Amino acid sequence: MTIEQDDARAGASGLPDVIEVVGQAPGPTVAVLGGVHGDELEGVLAARRIGHILDAANLRGTVRIAAPAHPVAWDAASRTSPVDGLNLARVFPGNAEGSPTEQVAAFLTSRVIAGADLLIDLHSAGQGFDMPLLVGFAAGEGPVCARSAEAAAVFGAPHVWEHPEASPGRSLAAAAAHGVPSIYVEGRGGGQVRRRDLDCYVGGVLRVLQHLGMIDAAPQGESDAAPSVTRSVVVRGDGDTDGGVEAVTAGFLVTAAEVGDHVTAGTVLGEVVDENGATVALVRSPQEGVVMLLRRRSRIAAGDTLAIVAERVPALRGASDD
Ligand SMILES: [Zn+2]
Repeated sequence: MTIEQDDARAGASGLPDVIEVVGQAPGPTVAVLGGVHGDELEGVLAARRIGHILDAANLRGTVRIAAPAHPVAWDAASRTSPVDGLNLARVFPGNAEGSPTEQVAAFLTSRVIAGADLLIDLHSAGQGFDMPLLVGFAAGEGPVCARSAEAAAVFGAPHVWEHPEASPGRSLAAAAAHGVPSIYVEGRGGGQVRRRDLDCYVGGVLRVLQHLGMIDAAPQGESDAAPSVTRSVVVRGDGDTDGGVEAVTAGFLVTAAEVGDHVTAGTVLGEVVDENGATVALVRSPQEGVVMLLRRRSRIAAGDTLAIVAERVPALRGASDD
């Protein structure tokens, strides 16, 4: 195995290590980020696992891995930087002369994302929310979006979330600006790491590398492995607002639904109770679809996001249709 340690790490600078596995044969370059949010464990463990599994002798192309992508946030087990308070996933493409977090974004954009043939950004639900195991991408016209959709289908997660565009400030937006196709991954998170999720993260990346002709074999995806499990559930919408449910009053959220549930318009997702446990408001789904996000923390204020229900769409064309 040949792992070249980038000597750009920085201890004091706060920039991430980049591990580069350079195959002995030419091929595509894939960039993998884990731990853009420092409280999300799965992506870091999976990305580093992949770095150790890959064998340069049998790899065609290059895999670049930055995990944790935001070292100071990782060290603090925090979603945001303890140094400047910024969320790395809101400041891409960054600024090499800017604040520490903006410098990390600029480094990742120029050193890891630019020039790659695909970006895979491994997130998971943090301490505040629960999400089903999913792979997401920005849909649209043109070859870059088509390659993102293809990679999402090949990844083989139980859920695929198709967004109308890459939200500003995300790594996916920086990738799009460089003409690099991209996908991101979310898991249940919450500070817990589930074997099923971790296997899907590692297996999904390997399936994409196999699909790109970079390795010869990869584990099967869930939808391939078990006849009882149908192909990925595909949903669409802007994860920030479409199908989002906000609290109309303060209180305590008591959930009735689980992430991944299929619901109809009006389905009760939960209720808000007061300090005596009395129901003060029902939380209903605004539309038919799949519960893609649920708030974990019960104590709520008016305006807090409680849930997101995404509209279901027919399965993607791609490897999962084989
Ligand atoms: Zn994240």
